[in-house]
Amino acid sequence: MKKGIYPGSFDPVTLGHLDIIKRASKLSDELVIGVLKNSSKTPLFTVEERVELLKKVTGDIPNIRIETYDGLLVDFARQEKADFLVRGLRAVTDFEYEIQIAQTNHKMYPDVDTIFFTTSIEYSFVSSSLVREIASYGGDISAFVPKCIMSDIYEKYKKRTED
Ligand code: ADP
Repeated sequence: MKKGIYPGSFDPVTLGHLDIIKRASKLSDELVIGVLKNSSKTPLFTVEERVELLKKVTGDIPNIRIETYDGLLVDFARQEKADFLVRGLRAVTDFEYEIQIAQTNHKMYPDVDTIFFTTSIEYSFVSSSLVREIASYGGDISAFVPKCIMSDIYEKYKKRTED
């Protein structure tokens, strides 16, 4: 059985992430989506909320499991006995950072390899930070995130301004 881990912050999940999830799940017996807890950035959504949003958008994909992790990705990969890690590449700027991480992870845990998926062209500029920026001003995010989570994102900003 081949098990992959797709790690990330997913703050929030975007159509770009979902595209990678769908494509990577087809190549895996099981794909574990690893939601990072202790990100150095202060996230917009709590880890529990990010998991809920991921559950909403991946409900129709059978071989997916969503877990949270903190600490080193290689430790999570070891614990899961994963065969490979999945990362998405949008542009050369992603590549420089990602190759360093992939080589480090392979050095620390040689049993796991990193598989890169190049982004589908229509999502190449989509990022969670772009979605957050647009939504914070009430702009239209329908081209960037699945429809079923749009209201959750707008609600989050509404609540923030009320607090
Ligand atoms: P991180 O904080 O670890 O970068 P993200 O949630 O931003 O987490 O991204 C997780 C993974 O998804 C990364 O490999 C990133 O390159 C990839 N990714 C993000 N947005 C896209 C996109 N639009 N198309 C393809 N891959 C993407």
